[in-house]
Amino acid sequence: METFISDIQKMSTEDGPGIRTTVFFKGCNLKCIWCHNPENIPFYRQKYWLKDRCIGCFTCRDVCPNGAISFHEDGLVFDEKLCVFCLVCADSCPANAIEVKGQSISVQELIKELLKDKAYYEVSGGGVTLSGGEPVLHWEYIEPLVQELKRQGVHVALDTAGNYPYHILQKLLPYIDLVLYDIKAVDSEKHKEMTGLENTQILQNAKRLGAQSSVEVWIRTPIIPGYTDESKNIEAIGKFLKQNMPDITKWELLSFNNLCAHKYRLLGKEWALKDAELISRSKMEQLCKTARKYVKSAIWSGATKAEV
Ligand code: SF4
Ligand code: SF4
Repeated sequence: METFISDIQKMSTEDGPGIRTTVFFKGCNLKCIWCHNPENIPFYRQKYWLKDRCIGCFTCRDVCPNGAISFHEDGLVFDEKLCVFCLVCADSCPANAIEVKGQSISVQELIKELLKDKAYYEVSGGGVTLSGGEPVLHWEYIEPLVQELKRQGVHVALDTAGNYPYHILQKLLPYIDLVLYDIKAVDSEKHKEMTGLENTQILQNAKRLGAQSSVEVWIRTPIIPGYTDESKNIEAIGKFLKQNMPDITKWELLSFNNLCAHKYRLLGKEWALKDAELISRSKMEQLCKTARKYVKSAIWSGATKAEV
């Protein structure tokens, strides 16, 4: 499996402590209905047509050696069966209206890039966060990366949904300082409805992670209207955490936002939550109060809707 990285986001403050550089890996084995990074679900590179930038010159269509581009009522369409990903279209576009998500970069090149901001990490107590997609699925690539970052004294956080055999995570843990672990629901059927897969492995891995003390763990729960925002869901997760992961240092409830809607438009996909409203502040506070019955360090963050 080739490793593609969709983005290297500098000066991030939301994926762990301090100022961080977050690396987004492509490829995930869950399909969460609300996914905020749909470009990171496929493992392969993708082309985007940016309608707002396009000036309608048709150069891309004319230069494509394989006739893989056509224009329809809704705009440019790539025929992926014909496309060989030569990117002549993107290189020839005078308006930069064709973008590519997914670059192949060597571990050494990535380390060099990440170390450019080492001074910021040191003054802010920050570091590097590996996110996605599911970064752990790229463990063969990540292992030498985190080994070198550890050797360089860089704090490393791993943002993971936990759906893989535990022994893979175990290989990486000696070089990880903080695990940001997602638990969306304890009810397996509900989890399957929301993500496409049951959560048996995720919860088993969470228990094993909770039983070791070498790495700090934060739990993150996205609060999604109509899916994970019921008080009984938070109660169930709270009970699970209290029983199996008593040493976590934070449980963060992340309030839903719709900032990713444009990504679905670019990918030509319907987003089930495109009309969903933000959650109110009072509801987030209520859910957080419920969470604190089980985990004292529970907090909430994110956007909320105005209340009258
Ligand atoms: S070359 Fe660029 S600007 Fe011209 S039609 Fe294609 S995408 Fe649009
Ligand atoms: S990447 Fe190459 S083959 Fe694919 S649509 Fe663009 S020009 Fe054609």
